[in-house]
Order: sequence, then structure tokens, then C-alpha cells
Amino acid sequence: MSEIYKGNKDNKEFDLFIADLNGNLRGKRIPASGLESVMTQGVKLPQSVIGFDNWGDDVLGNGLVFETGDTDGVCLPVYDEPTSVPWAESPRGQILAMMYNMDGSPFYPDPRQLLVRIVERYKALGLTPVVATELEFYLLDGESEFKRRPEEPIISDGNGRRLSEIDCYSIDEMDCLEGFFTEVRQACEAQGIPADTIVSELGPGQFEINMQHTNDAVLSADHAILFKRLIKGVARRNGLGATFMAKPYAKKSGSGMHVHFSLLDDTGRNVFDSGDEDGSLMMRHAVAGLLNHMPESMLVFAPHMNSYRRFQNGAHAPTFASWGYENRTVAVRIPDSECEARRIEHRVAGADSNPYLVLAAILGAALHGIETKMLPPQPIEGDAYSLSERYEALPNRWEMATEAFQDSAFMREYLGETFVRVFTAVKEQEQEKIYGRISDVEYEAYL
Ligand code: GLU
Ligand code: MG
Ligand code: MG
Repeated sequence: MSEIYKGNKDNKEFDLFIADLNGNLRGKRIPASGLESVMTQGVKLPQSVIGFDNWGDDVLGNGLVFETGDTDGVCLPVYDEPTSVPWAESPRGQILAMMYNMDGSPFYPDPRQLLVRIVERYKALGLTPVVATELEFYLLDGESEFKRRPEEPIISDGNGRRLSEIDCYSIDEMDCLEGFFTEVRQACEAQGIPADTIVSELGPGQFEINMQHTNDAVLSADHAILFKRLIKGVARRNGLGATFMAKPYAKKSGSGMHVHFSLLDDTGRNVFDSGDEDGSLMMRHAVAGLLNHMPESMLVFAPHMNSYRRFQNGAHAPTFASWGYENRTVAVRIPDSECEARRIEHRVAGADSNPYLVLAAILGAALHGIETKMLPPQPIEGDAYSLSERYEALPNRWEMATEAFQDSAFMREYLGETFVRVFTAVKEQEQEKIYGRISDVEYEAYL
């Protein structure tokens, strides 16, 4: 790959993009001659791009932007320098941006702007969130395999050897995909994405890559969103397909996006650390806020119809708004760690969710818990799938989650009225699309 990565000055083109509400990147590809003007003045895009459904071909449900005649927004780069796109065929750079109104004010349905605003609320209290994400995904033999929709991913080592099914934490499985993982590391380094540990996950061809934490939640979300593009790009170059869909195979493990976070005070001390294993009272307030607002935030953590298939008994994805210490069956886990590293692992979001919105919803809920000194129920010990009477069940259907979201005073206050309106509209649009088609299984059963 290094012969392809030639550094920014040789890049012939640049992609400037923002993340829409569904976490898809949307923007423009510009020639190198336009770079200087783009870095200073940004690129204009219709505001409606923020709210496309996943098919990208219908903005009719998105009433909000038409109230303004679907005026342009200005997308300004968020970093001073573009980064290179090592997997591109010819030297190309990329520029992450954020949308503003023409008068220079933040365009609030932009998910990145929403997260910036939540982090500012922490700053006002002298607190800094420290955040890291963990992303799971599946690889399979070529993008065309997606179209065949196999019941399980077909993944081989390039020499015709199928990767085994009993492969959780298998080093052998990673060895078989040597070229892919080497290029992933190199591309992450080229783009400043702090990829940490790589493990082979439960599903055949399923992997997890953890990001190192940063004390800038927005930066951590940038890492997650750029990492998804990177994995797909490097996979393509290696003749593989990659997906972050939450449950691509009905009988195989789903793909999640766990979020680890703690809070620093203005002296740099972790306020979740109480000097013992329990963690501080502040940590409990945060946990309580998370549990309290989890059902109404579910639409953000599980934004698509498919997302809800991940939440099954025994699937290591939670079904109740529960918490516990060193317990992988709960929604909010306090991992065993050195006291100074005391933190929360939030295990609800799917890999298909939008990292900006997920972090905004998580940090918003924790903040509300802290501000109002909420207290959580007793932590769960043992199997949360069978011991959850004390806890509220999470909405296990998309429509239930949409209703809870729409009615949420918390969402309105912490993420904003505009966001609630536009996100609901996008989800309703998506629901209409899905219900507008008759599925294979219906023909099988009812014809
Ligand atoms: N794959 C699981 C999920 O759907 C998570 C497994 C794990 O604990 O890493 O969230
Ligand atoms: Mg995992
Ligand atoms: Mg985890």
C-alpha cells in the first residue's frame, strides 16, 4: 500500500463529506485545484442531505428542510489538513466537515453539531468526557457475496481454505487475512485513527477493532465514522466485502458498537474513580441517567429494522436497561480495571448506528443523571437475561422505539426539538419503504 499512499501534496482529488443522520457519508469529490478554496470556504450542500433515508432517493418525508425551500448549508472542514485515502486507486485525500447555516450558525440536525453541543454542556460544568468505541463487523469473500445473501458469511483465506466457525479470539483466523489487517493498520496510521486491539469475534469472518480513548468525544466519534469507511475501502482493495449491519446473519452473532467512557474534572482526575472497585457516586448518577433514558434513546442505538434482531437472550447484546460489574449480559457494564481507569461500557448500540448520535445520546443521558443526582437500582449479578425483574425491558421493535423516541422530553431537551422531528421523519420514511415491499418470507408462508 505504501506505494499508493503518497502524502497529501500529491493527491489529485479530495472527498469532502459530512455524516448524515443514518451515519452515511455525503459530500462532493473535488479536484486538487479546488483544495484551497474548499479548506477556507467549505462546500455547499442542500440541507436535505442530512436526512436522506438509507436508499438516498427520497426526501419527501423530511418536511423540515422544505420549510426553507431546501436551502444550502455550508460544510466546513473540521481539521486543518486533509488526510490521505490509502485504499484509493489514485492519490486522493479526504476532508471531514460539519454543516452550518448560511448565517454561520450550526445546522442542528447535523449529528456532529449535536455532539459538539452536548460536550459543551459538560465543559460548562468543568467536566471532559473521555471516550473510546469498539466496532464489530463481518468480512466476506467479495462484495458480490452480499447480493447472494448467504445464511452465513462465506470467508476464505485467499487459498481456498474456509475459515472455521469455532474461531472466537482465533489468531489463526487473523493470520489467514494477513494482508487485510496489515493494510488496515497502515491506513489507520495514515489517517490518524488510533486503532488498538484487533480480535476475531464469535461469528465466522466477524472481527472487532477497538479504538484508543481520547479526551475529545467528538474526535472519538470522528474516528469511528472514518474507521467504517476505511474498513470498507481496505476490504474492497483486498477483494473482500465488509459490513457493519447489526445482524446480517439470523443465526450468527450480531455486530455491536460498545462505547467506553469516563469523565475528567478540570484537574484531570477521573471523577468515576472512588479509590475502590465500586466507582464513585458520580458514576452511579451517570449509570442511573443512562438506564433511565435508555428505552427512549433506543432508536438512536438501534436505528433500523434489522438492528432489533441483535437483542436476543444470550447474544451478549442487552434486552433490559440493566447494569452490573464485569458482566457482559447487562446494558451498562463497569469493567474490572485499575481504579484510575474506572469507566462505563455502554453495550447497547449496534455497529449500524451513527457514532455521533450514539455518543450524544449516551453523554446526554449520563449528564442528566449527574445533574439531577439520579440513583440506579442494585447492580445485577449473574445472568441479566434471566434476572431482570427490577429492570425495564428495552423496546424490542423498531416502531416501539420510534414511539418512545418521539415522546421523549429528554431527547428534546438534550438533543433538540429539530433533531427529534427530522430523525422521526427519516425513520418513518424508512419504515414506509420497508412496509411498502413484500418480503420473501411472506411469499413463502402466505402465497
Ligand atoms: N456481538 C455482541 C453484540 O452484538 C457483543 C459481543 C462482545 O461482548 O464483544 O453487541
Ligand atoms: Mg466484541
Ligand atoms: Mg466490549
